Amino acid sequence: MSTTVLTAILDRHQRRGERLMTILREAQEALGWLSPETLSVVADAIGWPRVKVESTAGFYSFFHTRPMGQYRVLFSDNFTDRMLGSQALMQALCKQLWLEPGRVSEDGLVSVDATSCTGMCDQGPAALVNYRAITRLTQARIEQMGELIRNHAPLESWPEEWFQVKSQVYRRDRLLDHGLVSGDALKAAIARGQDALLEELKLSNLRGRGGAGFPAGQKWESCRSTPSEERVVVCNADEGEPGTFKDRILLTDHPDLVFEGMTIAAYTIKARRGFVYLRGEYRYLLETLEAVLARRREAGLLGNNILGQGFDFDIEIVHGAGAYICGERSALVESLEGKPGRPRLRTWSLSVKGYQGFPTDVNNVETLANACLVAVHGGDWYREVGTAKSSGTKLVSVSGDCARPGVYEYPYGVSVGQILADCGAEDTLAVQVSGASGTTLAQDEFERVISFEDVPCGGALMVFNRHRDMLEMARHYSHFFAHESCGFCTPCRVGTAVNAKLMDKLAAGHGSPYDINELFKMHRLLQSASHCGLGSTATNVIHDTLTKFYPAYQQRMQSLDYEPSFNLDRALSQARQMTGRDDSGAHLSNTETP
Ligand code: SF4
Repeated sequence: MSTTVLTAILDRHQRRGERLMTILREAQEALGWLSPETLSVVADAIGWPRVKVESTAGFYSFFHTRPMGQYRVLFSDNFTDRMLGSQALMQALCKQLWLEPGRVSEDGLVSVDATSCTGMCDQGPAALVNYRAITRLTQARIEQMGELIRNHAPLESWPEEWFQVKSQVYRRDRLLDHGLVSGDALKAAIARGQDALLEELKLSNLRGRGGAGFPAGQKWESCRSTPSEERVVVCNADEGEPGTFKDRILLTDHPDLVFEGMTIAAYTIKARRGFVYLRGEYRYLLETLEAVLARRREAGLLGNNILGQGFDFDIEIVHGAGAYICGERSALVESLEGKPGRPRLRTWSLSVKGYQGFPTDVNNVETLANACLVAVHGGDWYREVGTAKSSGTKLVSVSGDCARPGVYEYPYGVSVGQILADCGAEDTLAVQVSGASGTTLAQDEFERVISFEDVPCGGALMVFNRHRDMLEMARHYSHFFAHESCGFCTPCRVGTAVNAKLMDKLAAGHGSPYDINELFKMHRLLQSASHCGLGSTATNVIHDTLTKFYPAYQQRMQSLDYEPSFNLDRALSQARQMTGRDDSGAHLSNTETP
């Protein structure tokens, strides 16, 4: 362990415990892994019990408390990556390197494994190599990669085009065609004044774009009206929902708009500190985003006395470390404080007691970018497009079986069928809206529209053609939830694991109607007894595929000559009675309060 390196990192972060996520990330980047000695030194320096530091280091999949290879290859493992052949590519690389997935090579050179969706579904199959994204993997690239690794070639010498992450935008509307330059929206906000701006925001009916759809104006107002000496603005850039990459586009092509939205929020609620919680998979964006922040400070758009108005606000970027649950707002705030990302008890709303006990406003990247449009054009203008309860436009990340995967911006109210036509999807069997926790739509529902009234969309729309197996898709996501459950509450911790086992059994042809009934029971249980949105939405995809694509399940059971005597209608009506919900789906953060 290099004590000098570690001391420099700790000094840079003033040995503050709430900076633990950043300290651990930087220590790992410098030292290769988080050894017991490193954790002890960090714990002593920040004055936390060692067990607390160890618990944070152990919670996140991108922190390594045992030596990892000099090259760490993580294949993105969304279902759409699998559709593009990611598993065969991973096996090929392992074979070339004489490795088993998940193991470090004996010489300590390399490890190869899978990770949840890396947000590159429009240019997969994708992988992270030492947390740098590589897109469009092919057999030829894999062979070359194996050679480069065997020759110990530094990443800087690898072909540059491998690391290109393209912004594939196929439809722009009011947000992506905003035409604003840096500072426009902030000046407009200051010209309106805090009270008037808040009124405009409420008038606009801008709702959270992360999936929950909570009105932004109400959230800002609640935060502002809580008495406190300090308030905090957090930008949730942890878009971990499989199939979602629209925030990546905003952070890459419009970072000023996002930072300006945060500054406007801070101005309105009187906050002085801001955080961007950036998902670990977007590590490659960090230096660029830091440079934008530095430029904004120089331009007087951040820092002290912003635009000469006597208002101070600055933004810090904190990295996530590969935990899907941190998309849940209170888990995200826990993570920001350097703790494991476990959702808080709902005793206090974050608007009252959030980060470090201060009133905290947490908004999605897209919501904050939209706030700039409201500041410039006003609430009435903003409501001109969209539907009665869903104003404005929505960015949709389209992936899967279509000719043009990428980001599309539509006014709310666009039909799923229209999106399918625009992205060049053919022979579509099903569409998964809002990722793993969202809604599976069958062909007869493609006239339904993207809106909070009908099909809410957090940002993902995955397309599956008639050759895809819907049981396999649901099985894949059952494992995803079993892996991502934070383990805090029993229904979710045990339920997601049981679901994954039941789905494996069914997929292997060993299932029976009894198992189907068990899946419905688990659906009712997780929906009603889970502590947070992850658990309560974890069975959506199983429920939807069971009710809309039952033949895919039946076929597997018939292969063992089971009588398909199971009464699906009765199970379905019981599920509805218990949960009081229809099939409109929900989202990880769907239970949001201000
Ligand atoms: Fe954790 Fe799952 Fe419980 Fe949420 S529902 S707190 S993810 S165990």
